[in-house]
Amino acid sequence: MAATAPRGATGPVLVLGEDSRRTSGRDAQTWNITAGKAVAEAVRTTLGPRGMDKMLVDASGNVVVTNDGVSILEEMDVEHPAATMLVEVARTQEDEVGDGTTTAAVLAGHLLAGAEDLLESDVHPTAIVEGYAAARDIALDAVADATVDGELDDDRLRAVARSSMTGKGTGDVSADALADLVVRAVRQVQTEDGVPREDVRVHTQTGASSGATDLVDGVVLDAEPVRESMPRRVEEASVLVFDANLGARETEADVAYEVTSVDQLTAAVDAQTAELRDLADAVVATGADVVFCSKDVDDSVAAALAKRGVLVFDSLSASDTRAVVSATGASLARDIADVTDTDLGHADAVRVESYGDDALAFVENADATAVTLFARGGTEHVVAELERALGDATDVVVAALDGDGIVPGAGCVELLAADAVHDGAASIDGRAQLAAEAFADALDVLPRTLAANAGLDPIDALVSLRAKNETGRAGVLVDGETVELADPVEAGVFDPADVKREAIEAATEAATMIVRIDDIIAAE
Ligand code: ADP
Ligand code: MG
Repeated sequence: MAATAPRGATGPVLVLGEDSRRTSGRDAQTWNITAGKAVAEAVRTTLGPRGMDKMLVDASGNVVVTNDGVSILEEMDVEHPAATMLVEVARTQEDEVGDGTTTAAVLAGHLLAGAEDLLESDVHPTAIVEGYAAARDIALDAVADATVDGELDDDRLRAVARSSMTGKGTGDVSADALADLVVRAVRQVQTEDGVPREDVRVHTQTGASSGATDLVDGVVLDAEPVRESMPRRVEEASVLVFDANLGARETEADVAYEVTSVDQLTAAVDAQTAELRDLADAVVATGADVVFCSKDVDDSVAAALAKRGVLVFDSLSASDTRAVVSATGASLARDIADVTDTDLGHADAVRVESYGDDALAFVENADATAVTLFARGGTEHVVAELERALGDATDVVVAALDGDGIVPGAGCVELLAADAVHDGAASIDGRAQLAAEAFADALDVLPRTLAANAGLDPIDALVSLRAKNETGRAGVLVDGETVELADPVEAGVFDPADVKREAIEAATEAATMIVRIDDIIAAE
């Protein structure tokens, strides 16, 4: 890029590197919008219970088969900057509410498509941004208005969990059975202040059919005892959780010993051995019979503890350490001298089980405040998809309980929001009104896509859904092989209001951000 040279200078002033590429104006917009639409298109066919799966193969040949929007977008090697922004939408959606990633991406893609048409008819980007913002607010109000009345009892929560899992590959275990496990898990950790989401964990283990998936009241760790000779099962365990090395104390300064005789060396070694023996004694003296250490356990301490029948695990990750603390009620100890009775936790049982080459430690308590959905499946692919499904289901149950309740699913709430936007658009001035209309059309794409993916004619379906929503409530209900346009509330198909709200907000934000861009300067 060249600018006019100031007086006295010769030749053009180079502002950008020789290799950078610049695209401006409509070209920039088209380039961005096309990329954004492509990303939305990639996940469109996975939406809903009859959505298809995608097989993703990475550069090294690893295969992931999934129906999960964010997994697809994350695994795709997206390079285009605008497309990356849409992937970001899906990721935010996943982080914030854990579900609705496909919905958010599809909506963003169609907001972009709408914007493209508007730009084509000379509507200024500012008017589009303004119209989209006004439409978004109307849509959000409509979602809030659609909140289903009544208490969020376990039946409702199971329905929410089930809705989030339909269409996901869950092997040979029914969505009902999984929904039941998820609701039990959430109820177990729920407190008056809400649900501590991180206390519901998922652990996967291949080697059994997915029907063996179960809820563990407590935590499951990839951990083996530090010594073979340690017990593999301790009942009514007193649990010490140690968050420091369990070994000889490290000297503060670098002290160099000058050893001048064999006697001196022996004395030094003896002193250290004694210290380690004392340490093992001190551990036993606390009354602990199971020790979880986040760092290293010295070999001779481990040997001494093994002799005394103490079960010890080392090198726990921070999240595993946290989970053991939650499950047992132990407090983190850093100095063995300070440990008192009240620092120890309790477990009804700590047991080590072998699964082929893997060993897992189970820390169980009937009243544990950290629980684990123990996902089983025949292959890595099955357990991985099951893990995502259980994670999503937990997220939506938590979003429903801790957020703003639930709304009718199966495309119903999107249709209600689209209608509200159509109605409200009339009162928006100028060309922004056209943008609001386009926004409503983009919302329509969601029920339309659900219908298309379920094998219905999308236009006919939309027309009859509209008619039915005049007098009642209707969505594209899929139940096994049958598809009907009926009331999602009666059928028990719900989504958390938060999931829809987040999808609308994130999609609008990404689309308007992309529309505003009219200049792309890219370094090679
Ligand atoms: P997302 O990534 O957006 O969550 P999904 O593929 O999970 O995409 O599809 C979610 C949509 O499927 C939601 O609108 C939800 O209401 C709908 N849905 C869930 N269960 C059913 C069902 N049994 N019949 C029709 N629609 C359903
Ligand atoms: Mg979903």
